[in-house]
Amino acid sequence: MPALPPNSQTPLWHTLTVDEARERVQASPDGLSEDEAARRLAQYGPNRLAPPRKRGPLKRFLAQFHNILLYIMLAAAAVTALFDHFIDSGVLLAAVLINAVIGFIQEGKAESALDAIRNMLSPHATVVRAGRRYEIDAGLLVPGDIIVLNPGDKVPADVRLMSVKTLRIEEAALTGESLPVDKDIHPVGPDEALGDRTGMAFAGTLALNGQATGVVVATGAHTELGKINQMLASIRQVSTPMMRQINHFSYVLALIIMIIAALTFAYGVWVRGEPVIDMFMMVVALVASAIPEGLPAIMTVTLALGVQRMARQKAIIRRLPAVETLGSVTVICSDKTGTLTRNEMTVQRVVCAEEAVDVSGVGYEPTGIFSVEGREIDPEQHAVLSQALRVGALCNDGGLFFEDERWQVEGDPTEGALLVLGRKAGRTETERHASWPRVDSIPFESENRYMATQHRDGDGLSWVFVKGAPERIIDMCRFELAAGGPRPIQVDYWRRMANDTAARGLRLLALAQKQVEPSGASLAPDDVTEGYTLLALVGIIDLPRDEAIRAVADCHDAGIRVKMITGDHADTAKAIGAQLAIGAGKPALTGAEIALLDDTALARVVTDIDVFARASPEHKLRLVHALQQQGHVVAMTGDGVNDAPALKRADVGVAMGLKGTEAAKDAADMVLADDNFATIAVAVREGRAVYDNVKKFILFMLPTNGGEALIVIAALLLGLTLPLTPAQVLWINMVTVSTLGLALAFEQPESGIMRRDPRPPTERILSGFFAWRVVFVSVLMGGGALGLFVWEIGQGTDLDVARTLAVNAVVFSEMFYLLNSRHIYDSVLNREGILGSPHCLVAILFCIFLQLAFTYVPLMQAIFISAGLSATDWLKVIGIGLVVFFVAEAEKMVSKIIFSRVR
Ligand code: ADP
Ligand code: MG
Repeated sequence: MPALPPNSQTPLWHTLTVDEARERVQASPDGLSEDEAARRLAQYGPNRLAPPRKRGPLKRFLAQFHNILLYIMLAAAAVTALFDHFIDSGVLLAAVLINAVIGFIQEGKAESALDAIRNMLSPHATVVRAGRRYEIDAGLLVPGDIIVLNPGDKVPADVRLMSVKTLRIEEAALTGESLPVDKDIHPVGPDEALGDRTGMAFAGTLALNGQATGVVVATGAHTELGKINQMLASIRQVSTPMMRQINHFSYVLALIIMIIAALTFAYGVWVRGEPVIDMFMMVVALVASAIPEGLPAIMTVTLALGVQRMARQKAIIRRLPAVETLGSVTVICSDKTGTLTRNEMTVQRVVCAEEAVDVSGVGYEPTGIFSVEGREIDPEQHAVLSQALRVGALCNDGGLFFEDERWQVEGDPTEGALLVLGRKAGRTETERHASWPRVDSIPFESENRYMATQHRDGDGLSWVFVKGAPERIIDMCRFELAAGGPRPIQVDYWRRMANDTAARGLRLLALAQKQVEPSGASLAPDDVTEGYTLLALVGIIDLPRDEAIRAVADCHDAGIRVKMITGDHADTAKAIGAQLAIGAGKPALTGAEIALLDDTALARVVTDIDVFARASPEHKLRLVHALQQQGHVVAMTGDGVNDAPALKRADVGVAMGLKGTEAAKDAADMVLADDNFATIAVAVREGRAVYDNVKKFILFMLPTNGGEALIVIAALLLGLTLPLTPAQVLWINMVTVSTLGLALAFEQPESGIMRRDPRPPTERILSGFFAWRVVFVSVLMGGGALGLFVWEIGQGTDLDVARTLAVNAVVFSEMFYLLNSRHIYDSVLNREGILGSPHCLVAILFCIFLQLAFTYVPLMQAIFISAGLSATDWLKVIGIGLVVFFVAEAEKMVSKIIFSRVR
């Protein structure tokens, strides 16, 4: 039998038995050794699919021209050439070309920024190598690796299943069939379709529940997914509502410009009797001046920069529109454990039937003292406590080890805390595996809130241990263990102790055991729910993160309500909530209570309640829905496979990067690389800043175009020679957008950005206030330059000099106005306002340099018909710039009063 199949002769894996398949890929039950894995990795290549074929550079470059505004400019260039105005035609073409090149470069940067972020989300796989379980980058899997599948995992490669426990897999990604498939380990006939090959799990599909192990039989391009060569895109939408708004605006603007141009042309030719050619050049100047050709490119850049900044701060955006939506979030629903809290669990209290034991020590360091009412005890002398510690350590999938100079926990920190507790009493891992071999288990799931394991003891007796939420466990128990042996359970006592412990903010677990017939080798959820003997309640502390406390306060300042959703006991949740200033003094709503409310009743209470306890993923979905009905824009966190529907439903679905499942990440708009609530607040801040920056750019950009257009129109109406030639107009546009305007994309969030209310989701970027601001500044700029031009002509100044003055007046006004534009509403008349942005200052310096070149370099003088200026001329230019600057500042103050209600 061939060892590893070359790709062309891939055997029909689904027709082989488990043993045959294992033999073919030379897998051993303990997994490959690291050496062998490395060798195979070199032989078969990484387990990755080729990235989706991107548009080639040429196509991407050509796409830059696909814009209504540029079409108009190209048409103008063509007609200009027909009239033999080759320089103007050349400049028009150059302007279109330069714009395309800038767009091309910027978009390229934006794309690689997004690519880099995509790579931050590479999936992981649980693999068994040399007898140990690891989490590795799924790209390192090789044929022959043994892998473990858990609920929420994305299947990392094509796998022949070896053992299966109620595994259900959603294969929609591969087969388009959205109903999950039940898996087993049996071979099927060679002709079965993909969806019926139940002994296989295919790369790219999603494990919904159950557990399985399997052997990797194909990786990378050799998988079924690789064969259909369909990369599952991780960042799907590239357009955002804001971009669509701006696109739409471009069309409207183009239409308006064409109408005005036509009217101007008609007026000039037929009313004033100007020559057709002159009028045509005038119209070209008008069109060229009014079109904001840099707008689309800058939008992309601003968004990409925002996404990059967020990624640096551990918020990874998966869908671009989320960047905007973040800015209008009004409610954040957050998990508690690990997101608002540190997830460093420490057992502080163990309550047994006859005594409550306190445990000292912090973190995972396994040193601490057991005491009862202040008196130290030896846990081994207390039979009930001792058995409870054993159950806590055995009914446990965690690991505890000393590495990098400190004690660390592997797996669920709740379980890690129980291992630490055991060590404090001198228990080690060895006992766990040697004396009490595990026969079977039911893993913890947040819906069930318990975990069960079956073991054989030294005498061959069979035991089932459970641990989980006290409400669940107490209901399963008929007895409790006391020093004298089992006795009927006193439910009231346990309930009281549970409430008492929870009210201190401790997380609760109950531990119980029962002896079963040795024959029953397999645990099923239905037959493990009764007849137990309760051993103890365990109280675990998990402190809030300091930065989460601050972030919650920030959110409150920013008009964002924070709600906590947890599987914990209501009293625990309330106590922790109070420490975080979430829902203090208000009741908590439990999952059971949510279940009793219908949708309308839930919508009524949902705004007021901030703490939701003992809640399951299905409740999250209902909460999102209810909040949205109340008009809220909701961010919702989640990590489990069952959180996916709520994450999809939320306006911003937020998945945990560390403990989150692939299923949750897939459904999310944003992934928190550090699982930290504070990161959500950071993302909101950045999201608001991105939106601000686009607004700032538009407010900066449009008055430039408006001012130039006004100059041209006014000149026509007043019967003047053109103060700006088409070539000069295009020069101004290029200089201002590609140097000055670009600087605004780098603006940092304003200091007061988290003290504003969320932006209404329906807000249009081009509001009445915007229109006013654009018109006002257009008039201001156009007026300044035109005034100077008219005055100079009146003084008998040479036309070329007067035009050069006009061009410089516009550009210098823009330089000053760039500083105004750093804050939309607030004054920039302070140190921060003027010197705060290095990008702006560099852009201005560069722009001055360009203007000097424009004015003095002979080649430029030849192209743009510009002429050298005197020192007095420069003073006039700077004077106009200063006037624009100060009047624009004054407008802010006045508008602040007039529009304070509008914004
Ligand atoms: P959270 O929303 O805080 O993450 P969980 O769903 O993890 O809540 O836990 C809910 C309850 O389930 C806990 O209060 C605890 O009683 C129980 N529990 C948590 N983790 C485990 C576990 N690994 N094994 C058994 N029970 C657990
Ligand atoms: Mg949890």
